[in-house]
Amino acid sequence: MTGSPITVASGSATDAGLRRAVNEDSHIAAPPVFLVADGMGGHGAGEIASAAVIDEFARLAGRPSVDSEQLHAVVARARQRVEALPPGAGAGAGTTLSGVAIADVDGEGYWLTVNLGDSRTYRISEGEFEQVSVDHSVVQELVDRGELAAQDAAGDRRRNVITRAIGAGADSEPDYWLLPAEPGDRILVCSDGLSGELDADRIEAVLRTEHDPQEAATRLVREALLYGGRDNITVVVVDALSVRSRAESGWPHSTLPTAAHADEIDEDTAPRSERIGGRR
Ligand code: MN
Repeated sequence: MTGSPITVASGSATDAGLRRAVNEDSHIAAPPVFLVADGMGGHGAGEIASAAVIDEFARLAGRPSVDSEQLHAVVARARQRVEALPPGAGAGAGTTLSGVAIADVDGEGYWLTVNLGDSRTYRISEGEFEQVSVDHSVVQELVDRGELAAQDAAGDRRRNVITRAIGAGADSEPDYWLLPAEPGDRILVCSDGLSGELDADRIEAVLRTEHDPQEAATRLVREALLYGGRDNITVVVVDALSVRSRAESGWPHSTLPTAAHADEIDEDTAPRSERIGGRR
């Protein structure tokens, strides 16, 4: 089966914000990859690190889909590239990475989700809004251990301290999730310059109000600026216009469930999301 298993429309927007002179965020919104990287390290080093990582992923643009081995390989190359940055041009710099790639699993369309650090991936699917990624941050660890209330995390002074990254002396692996895509899914990928200014309810409201993905991305960035714009803000919005299902994927008929067993098989496979690494 050729062609992408998910037909998408997307939009993106980024802004340095109102307090920072440099935008150290980088992003890509080019099928099959939709990612945000939030660089860290002074004197422009973070900008170089996040751009280097996104540049590695840009090599995947134009493919119909990406599999988990390919994604692993690009993460590894991106890490080597950041760690090899020469002194004065990003040495010691690091970056977060979050977002989705379009994956083809036995002919069906899936979101292959990746996360390292505290940029975020959210999804609206079948009416439900949820944060897919789990922050790799000190405050998330405190929340997980019951030492900090979830509603206090956003205001905690340690909120910018992340526990995993590409580069920055960290040798940490991303979390990966493989989520079955549904027609009508909307994915949001953002840097903490959005999630730090707008709470989840506000983000959800904008995503549900703005039909066009570019309009949604533009408006989210504008609202983050209105709420203070204390950090660089980057937003990628991806809509699944259509998703290839197994019935359409050209599989031999004999591999499809028979009508008599279809209900039973559906129940066995629900929920269809599958973790393929890290914690959730
Ligand atoms: Mn940031």
